[in-house]
Amino acid sequence: MEVLRAALKFSSKTALLDPGAQPLRYHELLARASGLAQTITQANADSSFPVGPNTGPRVALLAPPDRFYVEGMWATWLAGCISVPLCLTHPLEDLAYAIEDSQASLVLVTAELASRIKPLLASSAAQMNVLSSSEANSHSAACGSSGSWTSVVEAAVDKAQSKDGALIIYTSGTTGKPKGALHTHGSLGAQICGMQEAWGWRQDDTILHTLPLHHIHGIVNALLTAHASGACVEFLSKFSPSQIWESLQRKKDQVTVFMGVPTMYTYLLNHYSDKMSPEEQQQAREAASRLRLTISGSGACPISLMQRWRTISGQTLLERYGMTEAGMILSNPLEGERRPGAVGMPMPSVQVRSVPVEGSSDRDGLRQGEIRVKGGNLFREYWRKPEATASEFDEDGWFKTGDTGCCDGDPPYWRILGRTSVDIINSGGYKISALAIEDVLLQHEQIGEVAVVGLPDETLGEKVTAVIAPKEGHQACEEDIVAYAQKHLPTYQVPRTLKLVDAIPRNAMGKINKKQLVKQLFPQ
Ligand code: ATP
Ligand code: MG
Repeated sequence: MEVLRAALKFSSKTALLDPGAQPLRYHELLARASGLAQTITQANADSSFPVGPNTGPRVALLAPPDRFYVEGMWATWLAGCISVPLCLTHPLEDLAYAIEDSQASLVLVTAELASRIKPLLASSAAQMNVLSSSEANSHSAACGSSGSWTSVVEAAVDKAQSKDGALIIYTSGTTGKPKGALHTHGSLGAQICGMQEAWGWRQDDTILHTLPLHHIHGIVNALLTAHASGACVEFLSKFSPSQIWESLQRKKDQVTVFMGVPTMYTYLLNHYSDKMSPEEQQQAREAASRLRLTISGSGACPISLMQRWRTISGQTLLERYGMTEAGMILSNPLEGERRPGAVGMPMPSVQVRSVPVEGSSDRDGLRQGEIRVKGGNLFREYWRKPEATASEFDEDGWFKTGDTGCCDGDPPYWRILGRTSVDIINSGGYKISALAIEDVLLQHEQIGEVAVVGLPDETLGEKVTAVIAPKEGHQACEEDIVAYAQKHLPTYQVPRTLKLVDAIPRNAMGKINKKQLVKQLFPQ
């Protein structure tokens, strides 16, 4: 509800610029959302899906980054429901999984995408309603113009409790089937406050938003926190390096914040080096250097990438670490040293500790362990998965992230060594971080992408194996790479096997599902 409260407060400010449309002010969005909220309430009236204490009906949302997405989410909350944002690029099967798993009684969908949902109507286990943006628009406009929306919004904001469900976000599915993490208005509020404090969000900020809107990064960090701060969000219709550079240049006096996953920065930098003339590069550098803040997260940011970004923008990327279940956990500081390869310190009001992983020993004087988290930022539950919820919390109430990290220096900075289940390779008694090896290999001039995995080995337990895709226009030579690895890595970390491929498949967040990759490339 932080967002709706801010929308009332910053009423006459511009909230949104969406592709090809007029700027929208906070009060315009609120008025339209309050109209749509009434339609949602009516549409849900005869639904038989369970609702319970602090758990309203679920309303799925399938929309590109535009005003309908924002109105749809705000309207869902005004109607006392839980929003379930869906992925635009997911195949029907995955959409069906999220809709059925969340037991959504209603799907809000843009007119253009409505046909994608239709086949689900016939198969859906229960009576799911569909409301397309064209139908919704007439309701929003009619109710929005009646002038009575302020009291409706105020009443809804006052009524909402912090433990009420607000958002179900499905995890990226990097390690298995995506799980629906249920966040409450309270946990979202805690995350938002933390980011406002840590990253200095201001009402005169404008964020250029090109992240997918079905993950915490795109929804909470880039959209909700901006709006809760009274800032302006400029949506791009899709991720396109040329359009991003173009927008950054055209809006260099307005855009202040940019956030991306590491792969996005790689694409931006490749576009800069390969596709721009020297004059265009000069303009791009100027535009990038004007940004107040550039943030990277959702996956490890290679040190080489940080260096490249600094060379052209003069800025150090602020790397942070977080996850669907907890929002942001650790972050490099806004002021002070942003340490490449590290993810900084705990976010405000978030407690972090590490617990030694069974059988692990300290390496290089660093204590490795599974990162555990406590704080108001944590999700309430995995939706309809009570066993999974129970097993992910330890007996003292700490959430087990499944990631291994270590903490060093003065002041101490955390580093992420990888996912305990796939990135920590147990070879010859050593616990090796796949991410650390990837970082070194990515600095080799022939290597564009790399995924390091552990494959079963009779002698070593697991052997370090690198899947490598060459940089565009380069050939990868195994001997060169091995010689390079021998020079830059301790012997026990040098990959025993290299597998060259054209490209490494990634999901919508630019992440590699290593379990799937191993199955595909190294069938048993
Ligand atoms: P699933 O839980 O379904 O397997 P997922 O964990 O990839 O998918 P998300 O919640 O989107 O789903 O991603 C969180 C994970 O992303 C973290 O647990 C961590 O492994 C990784 N991550 C996020 N930020 C960073 C970072 N800065 N450095 C390294 N890893 C990161
Ligand atoms: Mg996860």
